[in-house]
Amino acid sequence: MQIYNTLTRQKQEFKPLNPPNVGLYVCGPTVYGDAHLGHARPAITFDILYRYLMHLGYKVRYVRNITDVGHLEHDADSGEDKIAKKARLEQLEPMEVVQYYTNRYHHDMELLGVLPPSIEPHASGHIIEQIDYIQKILDAGFAYVSEGSVYFDVRKYNEVYHYGRLSGRNIDDLYETTRDLDGQSEKRFPLDFALWKKASPQHIMHWHSPWSEGFPGWHLECSAMGTKYLGEQFDIHGGGMDLMFPHHECEIAQSCAALGHDTVRYWMHNNMITINGKKMGKSYNNFITLEQFFAGDHPLLSKPFSPMTIRLFILMAHYRSTVDFSSSALEAAEKGLTRLQETYARLQKLQPSKSSTMDISNLRERCEQAMADDLNTPLVVSELYDSARVINTIADGKAAISVADLEELKSVWKLFAEDLLGLRLADSATDDSHQQAYHKAVDMLLDMRLEAKQRKDWTTSDLIRNKLTELGFVIKDTKDGYEWSL
Ligand code: ZN
Repeated sequence: MQIYNTLTRQKQEFKPLNPPNVGLYVCGPTVYGDAHLGHARPAITFDILYRYLMHLGYKVRYVRNITDVGHLEHDADSGEDKIAKKARLEQLEPMEVVQYYTNRYHHDMELLGVLPPSIEPHASGHIIEQIDYIQKILDAGFAYVSEGSVYFDVRKYNEVYHYGRLSGRNIDDLYETTRDLDGQSEKRFPLDFALWKKASPQHIMHWHSPWSEGFPGWHLECSAMGTKYLGEQFDIHGGGMDLMFPHHECEIAQSCAALGHDTVRYWMHNNMITINGKKMGKSYNNFITLEQFFAGDHPLLSKPFSPMTIRLFILMAHYRSTVDFSSSALEAAEKGLTRLQETYARLQKLQPSKSSTMDISNLRERCEQAMADDLNTPLVVSELYDSARVINTIADGKAAISVADLEELKSVWKLFAEDLLGLRLADSATDDSHQQAYHKAVDMLLDMRLEAKQRKDWTTSDLIRNKLTELGFVIKDTKDGYEWSL
């Protein structure tokens, strides 16, 4: 299998350190709010990688962390802790915020068909490991203590290693563009980043350490937990491209400083999602949570979109390309999903003949090659669409398929569509068509009520309204007709 390694900037043959074992680490969410489309993409991308590696016969230990402390608001390194801030605003215990959003994240991931990782460590559960890691960096001379906080010495590190290797930057250029923020005076150099921060008196999340009562810096948790669960050297580290700098750059610096060598052998980054061509962000008012997608509850959405539609939409682009979201792009993905579901249902009912008039012999190989080529999921999807045409021709009686070929076709669809792309084609086909039928039935009743009103047949119109209300429907008359919800 070929993987594009962000560090070497080329596609490389994937060779695990200790086959058949593979260590995979992916940066998980900071749990202070609902998951959005930007969370769905890395989760789905690395879910595909996880599934494919297992398909290749590897025994994968997949670690995806939960950030629940130390991720600060500005540049990850200054300002209030994101979780502490949410806890203060909502008057909750910080761990209540963490638990609440972790539960919701898990629920969303399950709906999206994302398999749970093998280990899901929390940063707050690994303070001791992080303190040990800081001590190693201090002992190696690449960090210093200042006013009870510990900072990574970027200039000193850069004399031995190259800071900026992953993101293709160098410290002179970075220095030029650094803003001098308040509270950076403790640092010897503006690019130095916090390994440990002394807690201010009002800071509610803090632990004992040799340096102060405080908390770890955000970049540290992934170095400490990656090493703890996957070793001082492991195979793959993944995450969104937005994490490449400073987060992953700092992880590399931390591990080289503490251990004297790189920890990660292959770095993989998924590209970002834009919304109508714009970067996604709270300030743009284009920040759509997954729950809002599923409910259709956002001004930019034309209707609700099912989790499987979102999944297919993301897989229809290669993970290293940007994906531009729009309601019309999602509607296209929804049509594509329906086509796959209908084809899958037809495939199960196909009757074999004595011999085949269609050639399906290369389908498995072509799908396999696409996956092995740095997870080319859009190519697998288009192979499935092509074979859908074959299946429909056979179903229409215009071609024949042998018993063996039919078994092969079923097995390829099960493997690539369901097991590897993780699309739930069988259940959601019936779920979605039931949903559609139910919506149409309610609309039909309310159309009848509208007609009754127009001919002033109040008995019928009230009867329909009352019966639906009894069943729990909320009906609202609007100037164009009606709106309803359950
Ligand atoms: Zn991380």
